[in-house]
Amino acid sequence: MAMKKLSLFDCHCHLQDPRIRHVYPQLIQTALDSGVLRFGVNGVSEGLQKDWEVVKQMSEEYPNSVIPCFGLHPWYVGEKTPNWFNTLRGYFDSTPSAAVGEIGLDKGSHGKEIDFAQQVLVFQQQLQLAKDLHRPASIHCVRAFADLLQIMQYVILSYHYYYPFQWPFPAGVILHSYLGSAEMVPGFAKLGAYFSFSGFLMSMKPQKAKKMLKSIPTERILLESDSPDALPRSNLDALLWVPGDQSVPQELQRQGDTPNVNIPDHQPHVVREALNHPANIHNVLSYVASMLEMSIEELAEISYRNTMGLFSYPGSKIDLGD
Ligand SMILES: [Zn+2]
Repeated sequence: MAMKKLSLFDCHCHLQDPRIRHVYPQLIQTALDSGVLRFGVNGVSEGLQKDWEVVKQMSEEYPNSVIPCFGLHPWYVGEKTPNWFNTLRGYFDSTPSAAVGEIGLDKGSHGKEIDFAQQVLVFQQQLQLAKDLHRPASIHCVRAFADLLQIMQYVILSYHYYYPFQWPFPAGVILHSYLGSAEMVPGFAKLGAYFSFSGFLMSMKPQKAKKMLKSIPTERILLESDSPDALPRSNLDALLWVPGDQSVPQELQRQGDTPNVNIPDHQPHVVREALNHPANIHNVLSYVASMLEMSIEELAEISYRNTMGLFSYPGSKIDLGD
């Protein structure tokens, strides 16, 4: 894999995910070696396989590179206990460096099976919490951008009554794996949104992606791997695999040792299900840079600076004075 030594900040990933949890030290080491210096590791569920607890432990184990984020993802709202919000608050009390995420709204193929009114209640409560704690929030939004905008405005209005001069979301909100239109960008940007891109961007029509990317204020652009999901649709020889991933053919897993193995140019559908290694964020970087007609060095620097600023709230591991 042709990787340049650039500093990157993976603002959204799930290294605690049960599918890759057993190999996360290896994934982090490989990514660190490639220049990915920090990871926003997002919790998703109150109970599922000790999700939040593992994020907290990982943050303690990697005091410089893992930024813990706690949140209840819309896919898991049905599994919450009556005490979920207190438990979540407890994680913020005991982990002052934490940000909020992953939270959100989903009306897509999976999300539409989950009661939307309940999604809204859970999301709104957590967005409010992010505002109270002055922390950024990582937001998942699938086919629910009108609802999202409305809820963000509502949360702001309820604040403006008490704090009329406060900027909408001073700590910022991250629209993660953003796949919305260019037209929606200014409305969200006005409310304090940042726009983060993952390998999912490669599924969007290039013309549409280009128009949308160019509409985003430069200081609001972020990059993420969303590992273990969002495998970039790059050539196979440009990708790194998660060790032991059963969905990746053996000959590809061994690619490092046997460079002459016959690799097809296009990613066959058999590999589409493969787990995404966090170091594959380099492929996202080059794709977004090409769309923006920018050098990868320039985009790496801009996105790194943006993410460092966003994650430098009081209590954070990021100290811009360093
Ligand atoms: Zn995610």
